[in-house]
Amino acid sequence: VAGARVKAVLVAGPGSIQVEKIPVPPIGIDDGLLEVEACGICGTDVEQAFGPLMNDLGVGYPFIPGHEIVGRIAQLGEAAKRRWGLVVGDRVAVEPSIPCGHCEPCLTGRYTTCDGWPESRYFSYGFIPQSCAPGLWGGYAENVYLHPSSLLHRVPPGMPPAVAALFQPLGAGFEWMLRAGNVGPGHAVGILGAGQRGLACVIAARMAGASNIIVTGRERDRHKLELALDFGASHTINVDTDGPVPALVERYTRGQMCDVVIDTSAGAIQPVLDAVEIVRPSGTVLLAGLKSHEPVDGFVSDLVVWKNLTIKGVLAVSSFGYRLALDALARPDLRLHRMATSAFRLEDAEAALNALSRGDGQVSVCIRPGIGRQEH
Ligand SMILES: [Zn+2]
Ligand SMILES: [Zn+2]
Repeated sequence: VAGARVKAVLVAGPGSIQVEKIPVPPIGIDDGLLEVEACGICGTDVEQAFGPLMNDLGVGYPFIPGHEIVGRIAQLGEAAKRRWGLVVGDRVAVEPSIPCGHCEPCLTGRYTTCDGWPESRYFSYGFIPQSCAPGLWGGYAENVYLHPSSLLHRVPPGMPPAVAALFQPLGAGFEWMLRAGNVGPGHAVGILGAGQRGLACVIAARMAGASNIIVTGRERDRHKLELALDFGASHTINVDTDGPVPALVERYTRGQMCDVVIDTSAGAIQPVLDAVEIVRPSGTVLLAGLKSHEPVDGFVSDLVVWKNLTIKGVLAVSSFGYRLALDALARPDLRLHRMATSAFRLEDAEAALNALSRGDGQVSVCIRPGIGRQEH
């Protein structure tokens, strides 16, 4: 109801995180309002809340974080109903990107890098300052504003909210493995880093028919490496105890090395060096893990030339990945709910961010504005 106020987490600067009451905007014929059921958290949220990322991106404070949003339609204008084919009460997953449809990236099929909105250079849910009307642009809130250009995907009625919120990390796995990496039947795939996106790559590579999947992780990722094996990985390497990655990959592939390698690890430099070592000649290396702008010491570009490699950076996910992810999440046989390890209430958003960044036996953490207490 317009004029009502709802709870939202506002970040006013690095480390300044508070729950406040925000007015609900009036909804017209063209837009809508979502009741948030769950909002997944990733490393980007941690950087946004505690680090310099928002300043680096040139986005102002305060803002409501949260770009991995799942919820139920609470209000919907008549034109919006026709456009989306949805009615009040339907459940949807919301893509972070809100494409303008007119800029060069949008017109050339790269809408996730849309730069056509004058309001903000980075017009995506969880990245838009509260000063930009009508507000409620982030998933750490009871309600989210549905912009006429928002991209929505139906979520089946029975899917638990925390599982549905996995559409985001899982979507990345499909986008990167299938579309960016062209992983297919018989391929050997190296996945460096066993976080939620590393695990998502295991699931996607397996479904694409890869026959040999090798995953690396740290000692603190032990539980995630076990999950990787459950999800279809062929071998795991604990980089803290198992010795150099290239020698082990050589053994696990009988000297053939990997057709496709992706680095999903955050911060560490060594996986970038390992990636160009363990990929086979004419193979593909995908770089997805951010390193806080650190240069990669020891990078030998001659290896890229001699091995005739393709190196690609991968960042965003498109409808292609999200659709495959939601289809996979609806399959009980895949048991993907094992990735959804905890849900926190809005008031505990800071604890949720800390839980994800410390590890703490977590795989995927989400905020659930509807729950009254912490669940595990
Ligand atoms: Zn994310
Ligand atoms: Zn655009």
